[in-house]
Amino acid sequence: MPLFKSYLKDFSHLLFPHNCACCGTDTLNENEQLCLRCFTLLPETGFFHARGNPIEKAFYGRQDIANAGAAYYFTKDSMLQHLMVRLKYRNDKKAGIYLGRLTGAMLSETRRFHDVDLLVPLPLNSKKEQQRGYNQAAIICEGIAEIWRKPVLKNAVVRKRFTETQTHQNRISRWQNMEDVFAVADKEALRSKHILLVDDVVTTGATLEACASAIRLIEGITISIATVAYTI
Ligand SMILES: [Zn+2]
Repeated sequence: MPLFKSYLKDFSHLLFPHNCACCGTDTLNENEQLCLRCFTLLPETGFFHARGNPIEKAFYGRQDIANAGAAYYFTKDSMLQHLMVRLKYRNDKKAGIYLGRLTGAMLSETRRFHDVDLLVPLPLNSKKEQQRGYNQAAIICEGIAEIWRKPVLKNAVVRKRFTETQTHQNRISRWQNMEDVFAVADKEALRSKHILLVDDVVTTGATLEACASAIRLIEGITISIATVAYTI
């Protein structure tokens, strides 16, 4: 590379550093967060293609979910966790857009989800959204919609009250705690639609289940679920 060009590149890197979020190399495209080598190491689940995958099974007998899936397995201290932390706690929306685009690419490749009408981000409680400044699920939806041209409906479902941290509660008390948390603010917008509820991670599915319960009351509704990550 000619010296001048190389100097310019170094200079723009100083102003706008752009490195792989995992290994730190700078050999990656402007819109990417991971270099090709790190990207290929992300653990895909293949769930979007697979009927009866573990997420769908988790909802059997709890909620009537048309199709459900997650893009990647979530493991501790992984690249995926690193990107999620950047999205949720470091104000890094680009990480969320990137994860959304990867998820959107997978969704667009499967016919199981092709008749989805709307993307609906799982609402965050307003206190948390105020603290963070945004809802990470809405950012992921933006990324999905960049690749998979589906409209995003942000405020049709809302969260009514603050729930305490649920980490140390068992499933039953979690469920009781989640009751009546969600409300539909715009029934008309959702009537007779197939909606895709989107969140960052699915663990027990209790929150998504509670949200689906509120949406279920709308006439003609079909509910599917997509998340970036799945924890075992
Ligand atoms: Zn890398």
